[in-house]
Amino acid sequence: MADDATSAKKQTAPKRSRRFGYEKGQKLAPLPERLAKLGLVRDWDFVLHLPLRYEDETRITSIADVRYGETCQIQATVTRSELRQSSGMQLVTQVADSTGTLQLRHIHFYPSQRKQLAPGNLIRAYGLVRQSVGGLPEIVHPKIKACSSTDQSLPSTLTPIYPSGEGITQTWLRKRIDRAILDVDLVDLVPNDILQKLSLPSLAQSIKELHHPLPGADPEAYSQRQTPGWKRLKFDELLAQQISLRHGRKLRSTLHAKPLLGSDGGWEARLLKSLPFELTGAQLRALKEINSDLASSHPMHRLVQGDVGCGKTIVAALAALRAVDSGTQAALMAPTELLAEQHYQKLSAWLKPLGLEVLWLSGSLKAKEKAAAQEKIRSGQARLVVGTHALIQDAVEFKDLGLAIVDEQHRFGVNQRLRVRSSSAEGSLAHLLTLSATPIPRTLAMSYLADIDISVIDELPPGRTPVATKAVSLDRLADVVAAVKNSAAQGKQCYWVCPLIEESEKADLTAATMRADFLVESLPQARIGLVHGTMSAEDKNARMAAFAAGEIGVLVATTVIEVGVDVPNASVMIIEHAERFGLSQLHQLRGRVGRGSAKSFCILLFDPNLSQTGRERLRIIRQTNDGFEIAREDLRLRGPGEFMGARQSGVPALRFADVQTDAELLDAARDAAARWLAEDEAKALKHARRWFSGGSDYLDA
Ligand code: ADP
Ligand code: MG
Repeated sequence: MADDATSAKKQTAPKRSRRFGYEKGQKLAPLPERLAKLGLVRDWDFVLHLPLRYEDETRITSIADVRYGETCQIQATVTRSELRQSSGMQLVTQVADSTGTLQLRHIHFYPSQRKQLAPGNLIRAYGLVRQSVGGLPEIVHPKIKACSSTDQSLPSTLTPIYPSGEGITQTWLRKRIDRAILDVDLVDLVPNDILQKLSLPSLAQSIKELHHPLPGADPEAYSQRQTPGWKRLKFDELLAQQISLRHGRKLRSTLHAKPLLGSDGGWEARLLKSLPFELTGAQLRALKEINSDLASSHPMHRLVQGDVGCGKTIVAALAALRAVDSGTQAALMAPTELLAEQHYQKLSAWLKPLGLEVLWLSGSLKAKEKAAAQEKIRSGQARLVVGTHALIQDAVEFKDLGLAIVDEQHRFGVNQRLRVRSSSAEGSLAHLLTLSATPIPRTLAMSYLADIDISVIDELPPGRTPVATKAVSLDRLADVVAAVKNSAAQGKQCYWVCPLIEESEKADLTAATMRADFLVESLPQARIGLVHGTMSAEDKNARMAAFAAGEIGVLVATTVIEVGVDVPNASVMIIEHAERFGLSQLHQLRGRVGRGSAKSFCILLFDPNLSQTGRERLRIIRQTNDGFEIAREDLRLRGPGEFMGARQSGVPALRFADVQTDAELLDAARDAAARWLAEDEAKALKHARRWFSGGSDYLDA
């Protein structure tokens, strides 16, 4: 096949300046590999590889008519070309048509480009026009085409610009895609009435027009993905996602799990009786939903969502005991050692007095202890196991795992949930319960979590006072230190959180250490402690335990304390450089205080030079305590991919549709998926496979 984007002699990247990151002679990976990185394997992948944007080269604008800030194409003759020394060598060219003169500037360029721009040459240049320092209109890094005559024909349609990768040219992609369009069968699988109801154009028409918009098409509308053809493709994508999730759910209902019915007077009942508090209505509701799933002979997959501090741990513990009461094992897992340890402490405190042993398993156990713990799990002697995800790693075999619980599920990625599920004995799967403090907005849940059931705990235990939140400029650090001194004198404990700096553990540690030293100096009366991500788990735990026991008054920390830590006596939270944290993170951090009865404060120390987004985040976090509201704003500011960590979640990601702005299409797709699967499952699955070839746990399962 003469298919290769790069012929044999061009297999190596051209020598370029350092800033491109190439070294001379560096080998590129083989083409299929580079294409696979872009998701381009089958013909359908190419057909659905839609343009990022479009360029309008169908028209020529006279130089006299170009406008600053607009993108256009001119046709002109090179009048001057020179190299200028200005922080590196630049190529500056002047071109003229009968109406005026325009300047082209290349900050990096190839010798071939210099040749193309030799005086006397007729060229077409395409790009964004701005005003140069000298006053002429100017295009920086224009797209240049040599021109043989002034009446050389123009393209009749907009030029598609595709997402591309190393050594893959637009020209090659265009050809490959055009051939794929001819090779696949563009027959419309989606039932006609569904399309009519939404007034969507046909698939064949949409595909052709999105790759090659008709002459006269508005490049803006196409680039903004606001045309009927785009709407059709977004709908098809959402439909494919809904079909695969729904199908995944159906497959699950054909799998077997042990029904867990609990027992009268078992551990579950005993723990409930011994609790010093009453469960909230929302906790009871979640438990009822969980218990009804556990009673089924198909594996449960339920997510319990509830704001920080709503009491998810007790719900998890009661569910675990139901599994134990039913004669199976239960496991509770957390993403970090610290959090797992807290769960272990809490469960032990509840259950030891009742006579039930909780087994602690973590990656940091000594080899011998670990082997002993694993043996207890294998033999079934350990009924309830708490640990980090080391627990779900290969070496651990459960005799009979009835229920796996994963706390802070969003940190795991959804793939890991599948691995936990396959670790149970006797051909039946474990029920799975996940817990998350990140409230997931409805549209996202409908999209990315459509295959699982959700319980929401939307009520906090009584007696909590809302945390008063203030934003204070770092200029006023001294005032904040004085306030901390004051509250420490009253026996109130305080968290002082330092941000990650440039993702570097070392710089991060330095900042936290310096802050701790500074506080030791400024607050001679208070006991200052420091926890940090690079400390050993043991040291971290010891430090946290000292804080929990009240031996430390001010705990300087990096975000290791972000998730789940529970110290009710801590009532002051200082977040330094709060503008660098994400909204959900700020909300999680703030949720560490306000757990006891004392009035709690959260102080957001911000850098006075904060960005617009930083300012926006601080405003939102100050204005509301409602986790759902905050999550919605977070989603708006960050976009769904980052919000969900969707890339590694195993759920087919969306490339074109946006669950926020296309919420209506999503609703329609959900209904259509249900109907279509009921009417013609084979055809619906065929549609989904066009979109998601390999890599979907849902279609291949
Ligand atoms: P999260 O949902 O953030 O994991 P936790 O499970 O850590 O919250 O609970 C926060 C605190 O609230 C814990 O100290 C827990 O014992 C307590 N708690 C949980 N449920 C109730 C309740 N119904 N009434 C009073 N306190 C409760
Ligand atoms: Mg928790």
